[in-house]
Amino acid sequence: MTDCLFCKIVAKEIPAEVVLETDRALAFRDINPQAPTHVLVIPKEHHADAAALAAADDGLADDVLKAAHAVAVQDGVAGTGYRVVFNTGPGAGQTVFHVHAHVLGGRDLTWPPG
Ligand code: ADP
Repeated sequence: MTDCLFCKIVAKEIPAEVVLETDRALAFRDINPQAPTHVLVIPKEHHADAAALAAADDGLADDVLKAAHAVAVQDGVAGTGYRVVFNTGPGAGQTVFHVHAHVLGGRDLTWPPG
């Protein structure tokens, strides 16, 4: 999608601190981190939100979740605990409409989230 921020990161038109790349997923550090580990994991293919990703029906959601866990292992937070969050829709605070999993860890994470 031409006017999508995260598609531009996939196309390397906008710089990002990439921490993991697979055939179908890309992980890069959030520009405004909310925890010592705050990485966004996206499918390279454009889907607006988690609902669209789930409907893709070709294992893409599986690839994104596996990449999210690999990021947690790589960043050293898998053992202590981490959170994977898909803000889905404006009411949940989604602002970038290219589906992304937030991988958060490295500090105590409170519940419920705000
Ligand atoms: P929110 O902005 O409320 O967190 P989202 O769940 O849609 O909503 O998350 C978008 C995320 O993308 C934000 O955490 C934001 O800091 C991050 N972000 C925006 N632009 C960039 C960028 N160029 N590189 C890395 N992260 C970015």
